[in-house]
Amino acid sequence: MKLSNSIESAVKSIKKCHTCGGLSENEICEICLDEQRDNTKLCIIENAKDIFVLEENNLFNGRYFVLENLEKDSVESLKKRVSKDVKEMIFALTPSLSNDAVILFIEDNLKDLDIKFTKIAQGVPTGVHLENVDMLSLAKAMDSRVSI
Ligand SMILES: [Zn+2]
Repeated sequence: MKLSNSIESAVKSIKKCHTCGGLSENEICEICLDEQRDNTKLCIIENAKDIFVLEENNLFNGRYFVLENLEKDSVESLKKRVSKDVKEMIFALTPSLSNDAVILFIEDNLKDLDIKFTKIAQGVPTGVHLENVDMLSLAKAMDSRVSI
């Protein structure tokens, strides 16, 4: 009973951060409030839970923006979110044709801003044999090969 009450109050107290759209107990989340983070990098993710994946593994030290479902107003709020400090917008989305279209759409809407657009590299996952990699991923991995 006690546990279910505390779970219930935890769930009730979770809101969406007004700035990034991530999960937060307050109006603005801890990541957005953290002054130590790099304001020049804005990472675009699909869901609020993706922030936890990147944070848990200490993979990124910039700011986030959650694109939950791309509506016109999320492009508007993204525009507002892009301060003059942002120099690089990193798309950390699941590789797919529809997400490629989303990236193009956003790039097109923000093309007047002086921002470098990047996306996370796509390739062969660690420990997965080539024969088990889908054709599109293998083709992209071959295209984006790096010198060693
Ligand atoms: Zn936030």
